[in-house]
Amino acid sequence: MADRISWDACPRCDDLIALGWKGEELTEYDCVGGCVLNAEELVVLRGRGPDNSGQVTATSRRDPAGREHSGAN
Ligand SMILES: [Zn+2]
Repeated sequence: MADRISWDACPRCDDLIALGWKGEELTEYDCVGGCVLNAEELVVLRGRGPDNSGQVTATSRRDPAGREHSGAN
């Protein structure tokens, strides 16, 4: 599972694409247009890095109480 999600422009359709990152590694993606990207396109996205987008709000949220997952589901 990804640590972090960022949004970028899909290199294929130029629509929004959600990128899932684990550290610096791109582990998953989900284009709103449903594109299946090839290796070259993934390299482009990976090159932009997880901190490219200024829209990500979750990264600055740090809960000092701890970060355990709730098992409520
Ligand atoms: Zn796309």
